[in-house]
Amino acid sequence: METKILTIQSAEDGAAIAEAAEALKSGKLVIFPTETVYGLGADALNETAVDGIFTAKGRPRDNPLIVHIAHEDQVLDLVSVIPPKGKDCMDIFWPGPLTLIFNRSELVPNYVTAGLDSVAIRMPDHPVARSILQEANIPVVAPSANTSGRPSPTTADHVVEDMMGKVDLIIDGGHTGVGIESTVLDVTVDPPMILRPGGITREDLEAIIGPVDMDETILPSDSSIIPKSPGQKYKHYAPRGEAYVFAGNIIGIAGEINRRVRESGSKKTAVLATTETLELYRGMDLLVNMGSRDNLKEVAHNIFDALRCCDDEGMEVIFIEGFELEGMGVSIMNRLLKAAGGKVILGL
Ligand code: AMP
Ligand code: MG
Repeated sequence: METKILTIQSAEDGAAIAEAAEALKSGKLVIFPTETVYGLGADALNETAVDGIFTAKGRPRDNPLIVHIAHEDQVLDLVSVIPPKGKDCMDIFWPGPLTLIFNRSELVPNYVTAGLDSVAIRMPDHPVARSILQEANIPVVAPSANTSGRPSPTTADHVVEDMMGKVDLIIDGGHTGVGIESTVLDVTVDPPMILRPGGITREDLEAIIGPVDMDETILPSDSSIIPKSPGQKYKHYAPRGEAYVFAGNIIGIAGEINRRVRESGSKKTAVLATTETLELYRGMDLLVNMGSRDNLKEVAHNIFDALRCCDDEGMEVIFIEGFELEGMGVSIMNRLLKAAGGKVILGL
């Protein structure tokens, strides 16, 4: 398939927006920037188009898709009921990096929800994504635009690496903002439950709707427990090298990572550190700064780029500093633990 790339300077670029919207309406696959990561979009009600997403990504077909919308009215067609706490979340956090799980209506096809009775819906906040969705005026499924299992794309370069020749159109809108995916919140249960941590923290949600539960598989300690969100059971976000995450006191972490770097022999070794700790490391082949420990939004913004950078430089072993399990730290650690396939060194 021939892939066209359009670089867009702003959401006011009417010709590019119209081309993307028209392509979606005619059943084509269109990649566009959202405020979380780049999305691979298709008309949610066109089975052939949606099927193309699973093929392009190599995505397991039991992993349901998130439906993206531009207007709140669209939700009414897609769900059977909007629970009050769901409505409160829509009012406060949409548009933005929060996906809500509702009981679905008859309109939503099985090939979108992987046969579940629920549907995931999000209203993105990126001006380009919003304009395309408004112009197309159809529900659009849009998973992250990476090959399944690889780190999510936060730049058009990442998208091109994975998707060239597999989609019809790529809209290049620069680096995405949040940098990790949306939080997935199930509002069909009370208290609502976070199925995937992301751009909106548990603390943000609890300030609006009171207590929120968290699926126990988000920070896996026991791999035999099955996540409630089908996509969460897969190894994800993985760089090609062997990755390890280190948790505990930062001096302990740095000491242990330096010891392992010394022992790694001829293997090409990377360390993913933070602004505050960069100077503590010695002897590795690549040192990447994920951002400041005082600004976890910056770390979230950089994390997938840091993991892909290790691939670009051919790193065979990757040692990654961990973060405290609060606020955005939970979302970051969820991604890092998956990138490391659960290889975490605790208690340092
Ligand atoms: P992504 O590939 O980044 O768009 O991920 C979509 C996420 O939303 C995956 O983790 C899915 O399992 C999850 N998801 C989508 N629909 C549902 C649903 N109806 N119930 C639970 N999780 C869902
Ligand atoms: Mg994804």
